[in-house]
Amino acid sequence: MLPLSTAMTTEGFDCRQCGHCCLNLKDAYSGCVDESDLKRWIEAGRDDLLVWVETLRLSRDNILHRVWVDPETGDDVERCPWLLDRLDRRGFLCGIDEVKPGYCRAFPDHAGHAKMTGCPGYDDLP
Ligand code: SF4
Ligand code: SF4
Repeated sequence: MLPLSTAMTTEGFDCRQCGHCCLNLKDAYSGCVDESDLKRWIEAGRDDLLVWVETLRLSRDNILHRVWVDPETGDDVERCPWLLDRLDRRGFLCGIDEVKPGYCRAFPDHAGHAKMTGCPGYDDLP
């Protein structure tokens, strides 16, 4: 299983698996996914993910796909349901790394974004 952020391939970035982004940045676990995420999940048969999506049709051209919404209670979650504690309890892993939302894949956009949001992934940069 991979670290939380696939930005690890960006030069100078090293995901520490600290979980800060998934635990503390509310738009990580309480935001909106786009149509391409939904399409990937439908094509992959990931009904286990799709049941956590609430689609709101605000107008004909304004449709929101909210995540993550508890399918049993209809409540917004307070922690991403896919965030796993590492077995050694020294960090976290994403349980859906291979199919996670695009915004999770893209985080952090760059070193400045990491610094602004409290991500230590670029802390080794000179
Ligand atoms: S805050 Fe940064 S270093 Fe920590 S898990 Fe998220 S991407 Fe990785
Ligand atoms: S889907 Fe994965 S990377 Fe995104 S918030 Fe949840 S645990 Fe973190």
